[in-house]
Amino acid sequence: MGKALIIGCGGVASVAIHKCCQNSAAFSEIMIASRTKSKCDALKEKLAPTTATKIHTAQIDADDVPALTQLIKSFAPDVVLNLALPYQDLHIMDACLAAGANYVDTANYEPEDTAKFEYKWQWAYRERFEKAGLTALLGSGFDPGVTGVFSAYALKHQFDEINYIDILDCNAGDHGYPFATNFNPEINIREVSANGSYWEEGHWVETKPMEIKRVYNFPEIGPKDMYLLHHEELESLGLNIPGIKRIRFFMTFGESYLTHLRCLEDVGMTSIEPIDFEGKKIVPLQFLKAVLPDPASLGPRTKGKTNIGCIFRGKKDGKDKTYYLYNVCDHQECYKEVGSQAVSYTTGVPAMIGAMLIMNGTWKGPGVKNIEEFDPDPFMNALNKWGLPWQESFHPELVD
Ligand code: NDP
Repeated sequence: MGKALIIGCGGVASVAIHKCCQNSAAFSEIMIASRTKSKCDALKEKLAPTTATKIHTAQIDADDVPALTQLIKSFAPDVVLNLALPYQDLHIMDACLAAGANYVDTANYEPEDTAKFEYKWQWAYRERFEKAGLTALLGSGFDPGVTGVFSAYALKHQFDEINYIDILDCNAGDHGYPFATNFNPEINIREVSANGSYWEEGHWVETKPMEIKRVYNFPEIGPKDMYLLHHEELESLGLNIPGIKRIRFFMTFGESYLTHLRCLEDVGMTSIEPIDFEGKKIVPLQFLKAVLPDPASLGPRTKGKTNIGCIFRGKKDGKDKTYYLYNVCDHQECYKEVGSQAVSYTTGVPAMIGAMLIMNGTWKGPGVKNIEEFDPDPFMNALNKWGLPWQESFHPELVD
């Protein structure tokens, strides 16, 4: 039994909140606090009749650290679950330290004016969280999140040493729009239009955006084009998995998505440099976000499945071994259950699970921890229980 303060009320938060309310044995009380309070109130109205979890709502600008500190102190949660945007991470961590609360998020800090995400800013909080006896769990979504838990699980149960990890993120969902993003468009486009990179022999190898392409035959989906991207868990797994020689991350994109993106880039619409427009400064990418479909509206229209997982290669008892752990999730099943598509679902469920394990003390720091630093077993069991069952294969197709 515990109390969680959830910040943000967008696509991912909505799923996490549905899941907390299904899991009222763990979440006896939650507060939904976000920039637009009407969204929090609407969700409370929908869920309150269905759950024993007591739901409160509040308006908060998470960048206002004194106001957020005050809110955390007055609600006194066991954990603060940050499901706002990566720009808010450091401010929310500051408020948690000031108010004495544990912290969980799903994406690492990114400064608003440089499209670059790295753990260094949040890792700099290690000593402060340790001294305060508090735990900050970083990256409790699917990727990062479940991919780190899968890696810790593979290391614990299947390998003596893992040498290669390929993380494969396939979304074969079709929403029927010529172009839309499955989660926050600004964050999504910043991620996919950046240079790619992978971790090899202790250093980064940089690639041009979408330079490395492979075709992979995904279980339950079939062959899809996928492209190598930089992704944040490569940074922490490169340090936390001993013996690792190379980690890569691939994501699938359809031709139509890439053609639209190229065109938007060519005309300058994905830029984050402010421009003058009719006497006002606007950021082209933020304007683009305003005209694109809201990811939350894709739920009812998206059909098909996602498959996200990790292929591991390494050694067990002196022999070479390969192992593939993955989850397949169906967009329409997710929509039926919680009113969201699978990209929000596959992030919101692990966010609830991470918050639960920190809240009930199963996972304890203190300090600032990446998810693969904890015992993966309770998380793996919870994935099966709360809607993201995992599957394993000992003879997967490999990525060259
Ligand atoms: P949305 O844009 O749908 O939701 C963001 C929410 O945060 C909105 O409710 C927004 O309020 C609120 N918010 C934004 N700024 C503030 C602020 N200053 N103070 C308070 N609330 C604020 O995003 P998503 O739900 O798609 O994504 C949420 C997070 O999940 C992101 O950090 C994203 O990077 C991460 N993510 C992680 C994944 C993973 O696998 N690890 C995968 C997908 C996403 P308002 O309603 O007013 O706009």
